[in-house]
Amino acid sequence: MKFNTKTIHGGQHYEKVTGAVMPPVFLTSTYAQVSPGQPVGDYEYSRAANPTRTALEDALASIENGTRGLAFSSGLAATDSVLKLLKLGNEVIAMDDLYGGTYRMFARIYQDFGIKFHFIDMTDLVKLESLINENTKLVWVETPTNPLMKLADIAEIAKITKKHNILFAVDNTFATPYLQKPLDLGADIVMHSATKYLGGHSDVIAGALIVKDVELGEKLHFAQFATGGTLGPLDSFLVLRGIKTLHLRVQRHCENGMKVAEYLNQHPAIERVYYPGLASHPHFEIAKKQMIGGFGGMVTFTFKTGKLESAKSFLEKVKVFTLAESLGGVESLANHPALMTHASVPAEKRAEIGITDDLVRLSVGIEDIDDLLADLEQALK
Ligand SMILES: *Cc1c(COP(=O)(O)O)cnc(C)c1O
Repeated sequence: MKFNTKTIHGGQHYEKVTGAVMPPVFLTSTYAQVSPGQPVGDYEYSRAANPTRTALEDALASIENGTRGLAFSSGLAATDSVLKLLKLGNEVIAMDDLYGGTYRMFARIYQDFGIKFHFIDMTDLVKLESLINENTKLVWVETPTNPLMKLADIAEIAKITKKHNILFAVDNTFATPYLQKPLDLGADIVMHSATKYLGGHSDVIAGALIVKDVELGEKLHFAQFATGGTLGPLDSFLVLRGIKTLHLRVQRHCENGMKVAEYLNQHPAIERVYYPGLASHPHFEIAKKQMIGGFGGMVTFTFKTGKLESAKSFLEKVKVFTLAESLGGVESLANHPALMTHASVPAEKRAEIGITDDLVRLSVGIEDIDDLLADLEQALK
């Protein structure tokens, strides 16, 4: 089955009792048993599994070319279950530019539990390999990154993690499986904030993990079941509905994203544009290799003069773009990472990796491109 069919039919079948074409929202916490320990069907308790969540999880596995999908109450709950595979004294090598909440979980929760983190530039594969020792259990990569749009070469990193028998997880939130399939490139775990492009309509908080390895899928399901970060049936339905148009939406996000990046790139007030589809992007070659069919809808940029003042005034003046956190919905959003999404990253760390006060991040939606460009034009003026 091709991807554009999988988004609609992957892992799906009509409901057995009524023939309902769409999966019913099974609002039930528990399921009847005929004899102690013998449930009527496949379900016992909805923290373990719920049919609406199963429908979503089967769709997730299908679109990422995995064997098992798991749906969580948020993207961070999904990440949390991966970290629960680790033990005291284990080490993790992660990218130095990560979603702020991922960094916060690693540095302020799991570091205190005795797990050691190395935050590095993942384009430096020699550095990556040099940090590996017998305690290293996980490599965590986000590509493209939030907000600096850095890329990591998934296939090359997978060669290293396979050689040393280390788990390799990729946060695929920005790219989506329409553009990039980490499991096919050798990663072990794909993570999503399904709040973003998979849900696609800014109406639900959800997360996902997808794996190819059956045993790894069991371990992650155990961590989820044992600690409870599962997605409810109504939210599962919303994400599943979102996935059905993922291919159409992302195609338009890519078209609009490219046009916005090109527009900003030639604008005299703009200093630098970060978009993996521009030939000037330092990781353009990696982008062409692993992002199939487009470069996404996320565009970041900085101002030539005024710095914080320019960024603030621009963000107060946009009208079609809404000033708000989050991304990946059908509507365009604008965000100031230093004061909003990445405020939890310490100021000196932000400066070190390049999240400056004049950095603005756009989630380019699927509106008419003329209206988006006109809005940017009036706000930049
Ligand atoms: C939003 C986001 C997360 C966290 O997901 P939640 O659903 O907000 O918990 C993780 N990674 C990336 C890249 C994100 O954009």
